Amino acid sequence: MNYRHAFHAGNFADVLKHAVLALVIEHLKLKPTPFRVIDTHAGAGVYDLGSDEATRTGEWREGIGRLIGPDADPLPDEVGRLLSAYVAAIERVRGNAPGMLYPGSPRLVLELMRASDRLIANELHPEDRAQLEVVLRGDRRAKVLGIDGWQALRALLPPRERRGVILIDPPFEETGELERLAQGLAAAVDRFATGTYLLWYPIKNAGAVATFKQRLAQAGHDKLMAVELRVSASGERLEAAGLIVLNPPFRLEAELAELLPFLVERLATGPGASSSVTWLRPG
Ligand code: SAM
Repeated sequence: MNYRHAFHAGNFADVLKHAVLALVIEHLKLKPTPFRVIDTHAGAGVYDLGSDEATRTGEWREGIGRLIGPDADPLPDEVGRLLSAYVAAIERVRGNAPGMLYPGSPRLVLELMRASDRLIANELHPEDRAQLEVVLRGDRRAKVLGIDGWQALRALLPPRERRGVILIDPPFEETGELERLAQGLAAAVDRFATGTYLLWYPIKNAGAVATFKQRLAQAGHDKLMAVELRVSASGERLEAAGLIVLNPPFRLEAELAELLPFLVERLATGPGASSSVTWLRPG
């Protein structure tokens, strides 16, 4: 386990994942009944963008640094509305703390949840888990686990509330992670078919990603959407990432149609930037 999210926190891929996660949670809050968020690969919870790790890659400067902060242009009105929950959560986490903090998925979720909603944040790496425990300590809505994320997925479903979001965000440091994602989703849906699932994936090998999406479509999950963002096509480093969304909230597609072209424009680092929202299987 060499992957440390501190090197990548706040990059374009985090912006896509966290902006969509925030939109999904805001939709769930439209109904008064409580929901549960299960974050199978949760990371450390909060990242200091001034740390050695973040400074070494500087990835956040071309991600969240272009959306908010001293060097960023103001957000256009409609996009600002769509990003308001995400941006407000980041600002609350930053508060008056020195330096520039960025919330990872579990901390973002806690900022957005209501008193009756619950979070289970699972992280296998002992150092990141220790940090996560500190970040979430004292909040009775949250519980930290330290088991294998794929096991967590099976063990924690269905949630007691029968409403929820499951974020599956593995590090992709081992081969076969796309295959494990597809298998994990199938096993999870067997236990909890009505949850909203978000599965993050990097787009490095277009053929492998196409096979992955085909496999998901053939698995028979309805209401299955792929949301993708490419910031350049230079072929150098990670320049594109996607999110599979199973059971998206009704309005999400229309919101993404507004948001993604803006993210392309604001986060592009070179020629070839693009975005797409594709139904792999409609409802
Ligand atoms: N979800 C986080 C966020 O959005 O802020 C980022 C998570 S990061 C991409 C993936 C995390 O998975 C890393 O913190 C890594 O230590 C952890 N991890 C690696 N293998 C794992 C496993 N088998 N089970 C659970 N967590 C694992």
